[in-house]
Amino acid sequence: MRKKERVLEIIERLKKEYPDAGCTLDYNEAWKLLVSVRLAAQCTDARVNVVVEGLYEKYPDIDALAAADVEDIEAIVRPCGLGKSKARDISACMKMLKEEYDGRVPDDFDALLKLPGVGRKSANLIMGDVFGKPAIVTDTHCIRLVNRMGLVDGIKEPKKVEMALWKIIPPKEGNDFCHRLVYHGRDVCTARTKPYCDKCCLADICKKVGADK
Ligand code: SF4
Repeated sequence: MRKKERVLEIIERLKKEYPDAGCTLDYNEAWKLLVSVRLAAQCTDARVNVVVEGLYEKYPDIDALAAADVEDIEAIVRPCGLGKSKARDISACMKMLKEEYDGRVPDDFDALLKLPGVGRKSANLIMGDVFGKPAIVTDTHCIRLVNRMGLVDGIKEPKKVEMALWKIIPPKEGNDFCHRLVYHGRDVCTARTKPYCDKCCLADICKKVGADK
């Protein structure tokens, strides 16, 4: 099976396996997803979801968070790790949203990339989840899984993986596909243990277990 056919088959099988897969960060406003995705670097989404509750209780909107002392933000977000730099980015990002975007999150990829602390992964996540636009989020699960499946060949650099996937994944499928890779990566194609290929719905078409390229 050719790579393009295989990726379509993988997309369909993962849809059946994880029909409701979505973002595992809790948010009800776009700016909150920006905050959460910054906090999620080297931290679990579950922990981020707990920490932001305390943050939003004290600073319930962009204006409040933009005006907050960075040290105070740091004290609240410290359990997520990298507290200093995350607090600094969140503060600068909220200030920029307030001053340059009238308190709204821009629906433009390049504008998102200019926000402090926002990289391609975060910008893609916002474009896909908040604005419903084509997106490919190359997080650690995505990179590990698409390499194992043989959808990319030994590429580990996130931007290169993203560019390779844009060539083979239909744009409208990218965002949900990446969410499903997270679920599959946690449950089956795991990082810290051997992947559970024997119970994987992709075993017959996965390069790691011997499918043709
Ligand atoms: S067959 Fe194994 S390596 Fe391939 S996707 Fe499934 S669990 Fe991962």
